[in-house]
Amino acid sequence: MQRRTLVKKLAAIAALPLTGIPVAAIAHKGEPAPEAIATPRPAAAQATLLQPDDPASSLVFDPPQEIAPGVYFLKGKTTYFASGNLQEVECNNGWIIFDDFVLLIDANYPAAGPTILQEVRKTTNKPIRFVFNTHHHGDHLYGNGYWAQQGATAIAYEGLIGELQRFETGYYGTNPGRWEQVAQKRSDLKGFTLLPPPVTFKQSMVIEDKHRRVELLHLGTGHTMGDGVVWLPKESILFTGDSCLNGPYNLFRDADIKSWIPTLDRMAALKPAILIPGHGALGNAETPERQQHYFRSVYEWVSAAKKAGKTFEQIAPTIPALRQIIAADPIAVTYLIPAPEIAPGFSLEAHVKRIFETI
Ligand SMILES: [Zn+2]
Repeated sequence: MQRRTLVKKLAAIAALPLTGIPVAAIAHKGEPAPEAIATPRPAAAQATLLQPDDPASSLVFDPPQEIAPGVYFLKGKTTYFASGNLQEVECNNGWIIFDDFVLLIDANYPAAGPTILQEVRKTTNKPIRFVFNTHHHGDHLYGNGYWAQQGATAIAYEGLIGELQRFETGYYGTNPGRWEQVAQKRSDLKGFTLLPPPVTFKQSMVIEDKHRRVELLHLGTGHTMGDGVVWLPKESILFTGDSCLNGPYNLFRDADIKSWIPTLDRMAALKPAILIPGHGALGNAETPERQQHYFRSVYEWVSAAKKAGKTFEQIAPTIPALRQIIAADPIAVTYLIPAPEIAPGFSLEAHVKRIFETI
């Protein structure tokens, strides 16, 4: 499809009203518009939410949605992306009920565990036997210890272990790594240690019973070097973790843009009726293309500057011009993070820098 046609089509879709549209209608009629990023709250309002000794006190999820029989989506809050406060990070979760057990998608932080468990228990009494980590970031994996206590075994694409070895130096070596840094700001990590998934796969793994087939897949790297997705071929549902998001939530801290764009092609090729991103609202088959469109807009701008022989220091002052270009693009703007940087690697400026360094 020509870019211009796609942009027009997606713009029309993005303009569709969402309220009251059932999931099936969203899936077939078009892309749900990503949420606008929340305006940062004043400090006083934040203080009431941030109870360092009781992070669970701020955990209020939207009610879970049954997106197909026995397949659930629990949307995490997105306030972190406006505040940058680690106490507020929550990923989206999902769970799939098999004949005898449950597969949970992403571990979240330990503080979110009891709330997620409570929601799962409203839908089934079957044991949560597996938890799939879509990548190594804390909001998707640091809760593994909590789920192990519930009897669940964590599973991931094998590249995730390499990422843990790179960044979790407190676990694999002697120097404090990311877990130790985060533990200074999140009291819910106390009483737990990092728990790398004990089960990994090379390209794919199937969990199947008489009634259901779930494919755990590595479709390529991008958001991290350890990205994995969950594909339900019969239901046409794809859980992408943070390798495909729906809205301005892209963190480029460990990203590789060159491989990420083709990985998104592989997601689009599955044509999922419903795409569950790691953060943001439910998406569909067009969500990967929308994210790619933002990536390409930034990539092409950075690449042209680099080819012209410019240094990052030279292009940094001109990033506001790129911001204007993206702000005027009806698709790309839905992935544009408002300035300034509110978390490491999380801003247009950080995206430009990471792309500049990795192309
Ligand atoms: Zn995440």
